[in-house]
Amino acid sequence: MESDQTVLCQLLAVDLSDYCYRVCSRCERVLPGDNNKCVFSSASSLCKFCQSNEPKLLYRILMSVVTDTSVKTVICFDRAATVLFGCSADEFFHFTKLNPKAASMVNQVFDGEMLRMTLTRPKNLNAQHMRVTSVVPLRSGFQPAIVTLRQLCCTKSASLGGDCSITNNSF
Ligand SMILES: [Zn+2]
Repeated sequence: MESDQTVLCQLLAVDLSDYCYRVCSRCERVLPGDNNKCVFSSASSLCKFCQSNEPKLLYRILMSVVTDTSVKTVICFDRAATVLFGCSADEFFHFTKLNPKAASMVNQVFDGEMLRMTLTRPKNLNAQHMRVTSVVPLRSGFQPAIVTLRQLCCTKSASLGGDCSITNNSF
């Protein structure tokens, strides 16, 4: 059996066209996607196994990284992606609904970020991409995407209104 490999790499691009999937929040089984024509979309958030109707989103993101030897496309699941994004996929989804430009800004935010990744070969031999099992940002000033995006989006609204960072602390 092949062991995991740890690589140093630079993040080139994150594919946010399809970055998450839905699971049942109680039993974490995958719920059918909206593309699944066999399921009425109104019924698709009901879990067939535990009858819970509380779906949640988990990350599943394709990213391109460059190591010292090659460019790879790897797939990053929820635990590792949360390190990079700094919030759950649900939170990120709602943030991009409120700030439609946020998703397109993610690639600028991450541009060239240096990461140490642990990659593992998927058990399914037909799976195309190696899975990221852990990710460690190496830059000392690294902050998760949501932190940078909130700053960028807040700066815009703060310049229209007052500066909310000056609070009344004189008492
Ligand atoms: Zn369930």
